[in-house]
Amino acid sequence: MLRFDVITIFPDFFREAFDYGITRRALAAGLVVTKTHNLRHWATDKHRSIDDRPFGGGDGMVLKPDPIFTAVNDLTGFSRRGDYPKETRVVLLSPQGQVFTQSLAADMATTASQIVLICGRYEGVDERVAETLATDEISIGDYVLSGGEPAAVVVADAVVRLLPGALGSKTSAAYESFSNGLLDYPQYTRPPELEGLRVPDVLLKGNHAEIARWRHEEALKKTERNRPDLLKDSRG
Ligand code: SAM
Repeated sequence: MLRFDVITIFPDFFREAFDYGITRRALAAGLVVTKTHNLRHWATDKHRSIDDRPFGGGDGMVLKPDPIFTAVNDLTGFSRRGDYPKETRVVLLSPQGQVFTQSLAADMATTASQIVLICGRYEGVDERVAETLATDEISIGDYVLSGGEPAAVVVADAVVRLLPGALGSKTSAAYESFSNGLLDYPQYTRPPELEGLRVPDVLLKGNHAEIARWRHEEALKKTERNRPDLLKDSRG
């Protein structure tokens, strides 16, 4: 079973976040458990403060390192990157991190038994968390969110659906976008014609070899059109 521990100053954000579709089924089946923790619980001063002004000046506030170090220590038993067992990942969500990919999600799904997700806010998180506490500093894309909470949901969702048994059919993840260096092929359903827009004939004829060929060609075309970088990556 994989356990997610989410550290956040807005625990209510997650109240229903994992309660849908595949994640909900994975939770019900006991493949995964999610725990949300309020960072303020680990604040030590009488105001329960979790942020402070940046050294060196500048706008805004920064999340303090000490409550985060204590939180991770309570949740994992350790507070230094080198000390965790290899099944433990401590992820700092950050726009400065490595960009999250399907292969990183697959790596986590197959190797981790505990993933701690640290959600930043304001101007970010004291750098000592990235330097010594986190095993991974992960960005979900080249844009800036107001907080790490949406990013934590993205990471958890992508990992959970790759857990063995989480998807209905054993093979479905293998045909999805990114699994073979391509985007997924286009999908169609009924009606076969809508306001003059027809579903490609090949899909209606039932010739499975032709359908497979068509799908591969269309996946290639779509990847060339929308994500040529993926083709470049796979060709080296
Ligand atoms: N000052 C930071 C910067 O420019 O790099 C941005 C801080 S952002 C407003 C606040 C928090 O949102 C971050 O600490 C991080 O946890 C989260 N966040 C923002 N963008 C993100 C992204 N692309 N991926 C993951 N987390 C992100």
